[in-house]
Amino acid sequence: MEYEPVIGLEIHAQLKTESKIFCGCSTKFGGSPNTHTCPICIGMPGVLPVLNRKVVDYTIRMALATHCTIAAVSRFARKNYFYPDLPKGYQISQYELPLAVNGWMEIEGEGAPKRVRIHRIHMEEDAGKLVHDEYQPLSYVDLNRTGVPLIEIVSEPDIATPEEAASYLRAVRDVLRYLDICDGNMEEGSMRCDANISLRPAGTIALGVKVELKNMNSFKNVQKGLEFEIRRQKVMLERGERIVQETRLWDAGRNVTVSMRGKEEANDYRYFPDPDLVPVEVGEQWVQEVRSCLPELPEAKRERFVRQYGLPLYDALVLTTSRSLADYFEGAAKRLDRPKLLSNWIMSEVMRELNRSEREIEECPVSPQDLAELLLLLDSGVISGKIAKTVFDEMFAGGRSAKSIVEEKGLLQVSDHSEIESAIDQVLSENPKEVSLFRGGKDKLFGFFVGQVMKKTKGKANPQIANDILREKLKG
Ligand SMILES: [Zn+2]
Repeated sequence: MEYEPVIGLEIHAQLKTESKIFCGCSTKFGGSPNTHTCPICIGMPGVLPVLNRKVVDYTIRMALATHCTIAAVSRFARKNYFYPDLPKGYQISQYELPLAVNGWMEIEGEGAPKRVRIHRIHMEEDAGKLVHDEYQPLSYVDLNRTGVPLIEIVSEPDIATPEEAASYLRAVRDVLRYLDICDGNMEEGSMRCDANISLRPAGTIALGVKVELKNMNSFKNVQKGLEFEIRRQKVMLERGERIVQETRLWDAGRNVTVSMRGKEEANDYRYFPDPDLVPVEVGEQWVQEVRSCLPELPEAKRERFVRQYGLPLYDALVLTTSRSLADYFEGAAKRLDRPKLLSNWIMSEVMRELNRSEREIEECPVSPQDLAELLLLLDSGVISGKIAKTVFDEMFAGGRSAKSIVEEKGLLQVSDHSEIESAIDQVLSENPKEVSLFRGGKDKLFGFFVGQVMKKTKGKANPQIANDILREKLKG
């Protein structure tokens, strides 16, 4: 029997506000343990939380960007459980009345775009951190993170494969970054992801028993964790065994999921409305204010890049993964009206060098203007493609302009017929054996001659002219 996976994701995103959700403490990452704290976030009795307006603002941004309905009235509840990094014994979170519901995100599906529905987006506070001593049986508590604002984005189980899950997660991260409300760094924990996954016989409607998967702290781990879980559940179903409803942890070291707790051990959180906080009222005017400040989002930008610049969808997808990369492309496109040439160079040379030097596009030593200038030299035939790549590498290493490198090193492309012709004559007279083989029918040797001519002219010969003359001369 064929099985199909049914996957839903819960994404926690740490909001980039200056202060915490219910007090004025700093949200800055790092800092000596327990220095970004006050009686409110360390949970002293009798203190009163006050909601940070910016948190609501940011959540509305995400809700609008994902086509959600925003509730005129939402409410905070207490989610009760004891944990050493949550000293007041409960987490303040939205429960039965979340701020936003019923949205969707568009992702790349198999062959066509696909919509993943968003069930809800709600606000909550983060817990602190436990630091376990490596040498002694001791744990330390750091409450700097306690009370840092989070939003939880819960999808419907619309995801069908681990690749789609990764693609959805990327789409959510891209939007969070475009909105400038979360840095989306999974390795540092500012974006975290849990998954619900079940299998059912292909083509059927009823859902199978679901397993919750936690602890996947990178895109790769989300995909690998889900792949493992699909295999595990499939083997069990094929053997006629029952899937147990449980929470499992992804163990990236061993590449397996391990059981953390079963349904019987699941916590009863005894949610109830937090009596210290008034309901959150968001009027139409507030929503409009936020809407009017929204930037162009990845989806819209992608469509515009295809329409305005005539780029293939793939190029548009790559160039719009971040706002900065899209800005870089547009900065260059403003100066050189050759969008496909620019996009090819950005996706190959620029991104390769950035990856190699572990830098972000914002730190690229070659500015969009400089790239445009270089490619103008290439496009107008002043330098050859091969030389352009060498010049680019030098620009990347030294931050100098294309023109100055080309002039200083005498790299101008040779388009002078007689100069190229004399190089070709030399090559032909130096390689009589190859010439007769070519004339005897060994066509493949043409590339050899081109290579020799380029070598002789130090890569500066205009390839089109060199090809034409070579063909003419080799006819014999
Ligand atoms: Zn505080």
